[in-house]
Formats: sequence, structure tokens, C-alpha cells
Amino acid sequence: MRFAERVAWWREGAERTGAHEGLDIRCYRTADGRRMSLGAGARVPVIYPGEVVAVVNDFLGRSVFVAHEIADGAGRRLHSVYGHVDPCPGLAPGSPLGDGGLVGTIADTSARRSPVPPHLHLSLALLAGSGRLGWPELRDPARALLVDPLPVVCGLRDSLHVSSLTRIRGEGAVDR
Ligand SMILES: [Zn+2]
Repeated sequence: MRFAERVAWWREGAERTGAHEGLDIRCYRTADGRRMSLGAGARVPVIYPGEVVAVVNDFLGRSVFVAHEIADGAGRRLHSVYGHVDPCPGLAPGSPLGDGGLVGTIADTSARRSPVPPHLHLSLALLAGSGRLGWPELRDPARALLVDPLPVVCGLRDSLHVSSLTRIRGEGAVDR
């Protein structure tokens, strides 16, 4: 399910109560064209290096919020959110995640009374300020500017930098 869509992909004809805050990743195609599903237990790497800032419950598992060393001109910092996962043991606010570091695995939803199959929800958001962080803050337009994760997932992750974002620390030079 793509960013900002309103139709619920897991049940024909169903509508969400609001626009989708990210990208749901459920299926992929192999190099030889076979369609595969990501099942429970599939490993979820971080999309950029960063630091865990919150781990909260969601309706299918847990959600891990990661802050990155990338910000826009207004000082809003890029965050990524990995929803419906089982976080790696010991992962907590303050945990560093290196390039490709493991956030956790896709949660098994079979024991929950939900029609939604296991999948990864990925959100990207520019967030101002500090303080409590969770789904309500991510959905608050005064606090968060949501970004479509699809170009990043498709390997165009530097495309974020050309949209006036700046790497604020690490790796030396500022790149735009
Ligand atoms: Zn989702």
C-alpha cells in the first residue's frame, strides 16, 4: 500500500479512516520474476544509519522510531518508522544503528484478531523539536512532515538530499 492512499489493501472495498502515513511492504519479485511474500520473521534493516528514539506498541506488533543525521533547512530532523515488527532483543531508545543495522523482524499477526497479514509499514517524516514520540505525533501535521518512502526504498535514497535536506553530522562534508 502506497503513501497517502485511502483504500485498505487487506480487505476488498475497505477504506482507511485517514490517508496512509507511509508504505506497506508485503510482496516482492525475484530477479526471475516470481512474486513472493514477506512473511513473519523477515528481517528489517534500517534505511539510514541512526539512533533509536522510541519503541511503541502498535495494533500488529511494535513500532521502532529512528532519528537520522539528516535535517531540512528548518532544523526538522529525518526520522524513519518501522511498524508491525518484533524489535531486536535489547533495542531501546539510545540504541545506535549502523548502515543496514537490524531493527527487528516482521511481526507474526496470526494470533491477533486482525485481518491484516504480516507486513512492514515504513514511514519517513521530518520532525521538529523533541519530546514524546509515537503515532499521534507522527500524524500531527504541526509536528511532522511525512515524506513518501517509495523513492528511498527503490534505491534512490540520495533523492532526499536534493530536496533541500542536509546531512547534519557524520561523514564530514555537508551534502545537499
Ligand atoms: Zn501501513
